[in-house]
Amino acid sequence: ALNFAYRGTEAIVIPAFNKKIAETQCVNCGQCRVYCPTGAISIKTHMDEVWEALADPDVRVVAQIAPAVRVAVGDHYSLPKGRSVMGKIVNALHRMGFDEIYDTTFSADLTIMEEGSELLERLPEIKESGLPMFTSCCPGWVKFVKSEFPEMAGRLSTAKSPQQMFGAVMKTYFAEKLGVSPEKIYTVSVMPCVAKKSEREMDLYYGEYAGHDVDAVVTTRELLRMIRAAHIEPSTLVDQESDRPMQEGTGAGVIFGATGGVMEAALRTAYYLLKGENPPADAFQAVRSTGFNEHQGVQEAVFQVDDVTVRTAAVSGLGNARALIDKIERGEAQYDFVEVMACPGGCAGGGGQPIHDNLELAKERGDVLYELDAENEIRFSHENPAVQELYRSFLEKPLSHKSHELLHTDHSLGI
Ligand code: SF4
Repeated sequence: ALNFAYRGTEAIVIPAFNKKIAETQCVNCGQCRVYCPTGAISIKTHMDEVWEALADPDVRVVAQIAPAVRVAVGDHYSLPKGRSVMGKIVNALHRMGFDEIYDTTFSADLTIMEEGSELLERLPEIKESGLPMFTSCCPGWVKFVKSEFPEMAGRLSTAKSPQQMFGAVMKTYFAEKLGVSPEKIYTVSVMPCVAKKSEREMDLYYGEYAGHDVDAVVTTRELLRMIRAAHIEPSTLVDQESDRPMQEGTGAGVIFGATGGVMEAALRTAYYLLKGENPPADAFQAVRSTGFNEHQGVQEAVFQVDDVTVRTAAVSGLGNARALIDKIERGEAQYDFVEVMACPGGCAGGGGQPIHDNLELAKERGDVLYELDAENEIRFSHENPAVQELYRSFLEKPLSHKSHELLHTDHSLGI
């Protein structure tokens, strides 16, 4: 979307033909902000809207915190480096005045339940057509495929992203459980991602029950600025648990923040759905990435479960994604399930994460997410007790009518 124009001291970085950025093929991932050598690019902020909601006594302000945020905040404050500081983020948000704080890992598990089931349902057609199902939880990738390869848009999973599933469930099931009208709930996402800001604005995610599923998105960098604005001294932060009923998240949900994580989590649950028993938790670790450059950004693996063969690829970086789709379209590669993350390294390296000059931290942050997975007592999304309860008392089962209504979308309807 951006390139150099003019020469010598006149040289500037702009979209071609001096177009506005919104008129280009920009996918809103925010990587330009991360790599701009002069710091000249800034991202639209939504902190003011959140402060206004927090100041309104009639509004219940509810936050969700994405998996990759917890491994980036500590670096910034010299809190335990490379560790999750989720408890301290929860404490900071409560001190700012948030009423409830939840972990997006819960809705990542929900996404896996739907997406893993969808993969199995679509598998016969996938085998017949020779074309894969693509993950759809990265809005940068979704915009890219719809604008650059519209013929492939129908291959996207219809499952909403964890951010959107959280908002939809919050404003229906949990609003009812908490006894609060959905119009009085203001949902804020704390994300490593800039593209989530435009995802939340999409008409696709405007439910009839209470406006947008998500009301505001702030990035990890905005979170840090809000903590500073609230005069919270980081050393005074204490560990605090996220709130119930969406408290539980599994190791499978946590790895959503690293490239290959969505695929690995979905395969764990798809295996269970096929066999009725769990695989070893690390059975699908071959999809984990070893790096994110043009030689390492695509991780291919083939798995055999009884007589079912699943050919997979996990890709990060849109240059790598473009090359992969070109190969698929030329008939040079065949997959059943492909994960794509727009940012190199996935959300751990997202455009909204803190920037450390000359340091690439996506790999380190991703590795910590895999460690958190290994340490988690529950490593399968289908074993998340809060998710099981949600299906028991509200959604019935994955891909049910209610699940389709709230948790799926139609990607053929616009970019
Ligand atoms: Fe956002 Fe993650 Fe996609 Fe980057 S990889 S655009 S952070 S969802």
